[in-house]
Amino acid sequence: MTVVDRIVDGRIIDGPGGYTGVEADEQWAAEVRRLASARNATILAHNYQVPAIQDVADHVGDSLALSRIAAAAPESTIVFCGVHFMAETAKILSPDKTVLIPDARAGCSLADSITADELAAWRDEHPGAVVVSYVNTTAAVKALTDICCTSSNAVDVVNSIPADREVLFCPDQFLGAHVRRMTGRDNMHIWAGECHVHAGINGEELSEKVRSHPDAELYVHPECGCATSALYLAGEGAVPADRVKILSTGGMLEAAKSSRATQVLVATEIGMLHQLRRAAPGIDFEAVNDRASCRFMKMITPAALLRCLIEGADEVDVDVETARRARASVARMIEIGRPGGGE
Ligand code: SF4
Repeated sequence: MTVVDRIVDGRIIDGPGGYTGVEADEQWAAEVRRLASARNATILAHNYQVPAIQDVADHVGDSLALSRIAAAAPESTIVFCGVHFMAETAKILSPDKTVLIPDARAGCSLADSITADELAAWRDEHPGAVVVSYVNTTAAVKALTDICCTSSNAVDVVNSIPADREVLFCPDQFLGAHVRRMTGRDNMHIWAGECHVHAGINGEELSEKVRSHPDAELYVHPECGCATSALYLAGEGAVPADRVKILSTGGMLEAAKSSRATQVLVATEIGMLHQLRRAAPGIDFEAVNDRASCRFMKMITPAALLRCLIEGADEVDVDVETARRARASVARMIEIGRPGGGE
């Protein structure tokens, strides 16, 4: 019996945590590859996906890098193994392609911190203000945004706005606090949003981990919602600055390949450890918090990917006008500073 036969046979289970019932074995991987090719699809996997999904994908990376790969890909269908706003961003940048996500319920607590209606009401309270949104936002919020930003270029984006204009910064309060400190700007209002994962990477735990691993380097991923609290703490001096490396995903992988460190502490979602261990097998990588796992990312299960390829679902769509306006705010982001790669 093939894997597809088993699914047709009703073995796939749809539960609150996602689709289950399929083992990520060699037969599964071969079936995924065969179905992707039959659909003329390329499979993109975010760094925080489970290892089996990363290993079967055509490309692994951060959200913006993957969206750019999606736009340039010759295939007509993009299967985006990540959370929903990321698949939406891919659709915004590749409006003519079919974009699928293996489970559309894979949301993001940070992106869900602010709705388009809430942003519209906030803007009405501050006429003339410039809206800056982190890339972890829905297409509808991006469409109401003047300039999107990543953590890498958030300071440059805010500095590019005339000093006398008010700034509305959303949705991440930790990134917002970091930007306000770096720019010294007092006319910047910050939305009180956060990612549920970064709540687990607190200052006490971070400081304790650094104290108990005196020779280890600390990698903090700035483009990750779950690491913005660590970024803030590092800037506050909670950990010694010479041991902290604020790195994008690509930068983290490059640093690991050339590092002489024997141990590296990683303050980000734990899925990143898989790529780091592959890049530098001689280094002992340890999560600052091994519970820092995004349950939404982990909804993209082997069963969900297979179902997606068999059924051509779940398709992600963004209406033409929302996509046009969202694309403009993303384009402005790409023009300013060093945007890095998104989460
Ligand atoms: S780790 Fe946090 S910011 Fe990233 S996708 Fe998950 S909920 Fe969103």
